[in-house]
Amino acid sequence: MARFRKAVWRPVTRFLPGGSSHSTMGAPARLVYHTAVTTSSSLHASMQGGNATSHFFVAEDGTIEQYVDTGVRATAHTSPGNDDCITVETWDGLSPTDTADPGPAWTPGQVDSLARLAAWCNRVHGIPLVRLPSSFPGTRGIGWHRLGIDGNFPGGLLAGRVAGGEHWSSSFGKLCPTETRIKQVVDDVIPLARRLATGGPVMARSTPVEEEPEMDRDELLEIVREAVREELSSVQFQDPDQPQVTRSLVGLLRDIDKSLRGTVVGGPPGG
Ligand SMILES: [Zn+2]
Repeated sequence: MARFRKAVWRPVTRFLPGGSSHSTMGAPARLVYHTAVTTSSSLHASMQGGNATSHFFVAEDGTIEQYVDTGVRATAHTSPGNDDCITVETWDGLSPTDTADPGPAWTPGQVDSLARLAAWCNRVHGIPLVRLPSSFPGTRGIGWHRLGIDGNFPGGLLAGRVAGGEHWSSSFGKLCPTETRIKQVVDDVIPLARRLATGGPVMARSTPVEEEPEMDRDELLEIVREAVREELSSVQFQDPDQPQVTRSLVGLLRDIDKSLRGTVVGGPPGG
């Protein structure tokens, strides 16, 4: 059972314990983003009224509402696509008649919230912060609805369901969450989620990021060697033969080294 602290908890009552749609979900393995085709700042009333229900909704300004506990199956996908998916609907300002690729971008506030949700799912449910490759059963990661939709889609990143993948919709060619937003998952949301998860620098999308030049292997090894040398030089212990004597590990290694060289130079005793 889990609720995201940064979300406004607005439970859809039939998913609460004892409710008609309450069904426990095992370990969630995938986080799946959608576009809601809505101008509304909340989907609570619609979902409460009986429509397909997602765990979360992210409004235009980034406000997150949680409708279903992540320990419970939601119904944003067709069955069995809800068995291990945490689903997120998002505001897009669209009406059903103007849905077309490439579609509108998520606002900076939405990108931020979607990344925070992903980082939270990583921490709480162990969902890896990698792009979900397909809706194939057993895959894990961060994805989008189209991965489970059949249609005449382009190939590559924008492709639909692969053979053997789970069906997440019965509507052929449904664009959800549209091309622009699919690209944003890969270019913006997952990278930001990783920075949030690792405590790295978090920068707004419009800010040019100056990357640290990558360290080459030799530089890295030298830093590790130096750290190990420093660490070892401070190790002290009692000499087993003379308990009153404290020796340094480095001194002992030096002595061993010296006696070994002596053995090699002098040859084996009696030889
Ligand atoms: Zn969808």
